Amino acid sequence: MSNHSTGYCPDPTSWEAVAVALDNAGICRPECFTVAVVFRRCLDCGERNVVRDDDYICALCGAELPEDVEPRLTAPPSTDQRSR
Ligand SMILES: [Zn+2]
Repeated sequence: MSNHSTGYCPDPTSWEAVAVALDNAGICRPECFTVAVVFRRCLDCGERNVVRDDDYICALCGAELPEDVEPRLTAPPSTDQRSR
């Protein structure tokens, strides 16, 4: 379960309403949203992005974001095209 959905971005605090609704319905629920937000740092502009729906594109400059691991702060600009 996640607070991230396409086209509709509920506030994280909406979880409380969800939890209450599920409890009232007698449905087992996790203690919180089970899908962690994925952060990726853009190698081109350094902007920190929230990855949604596996869309690894920088929201600021449109560059590809690394899909594997958080790049180190010392990572060089996108001259390294190892992912292609
Ligand atoms: Zn960028």
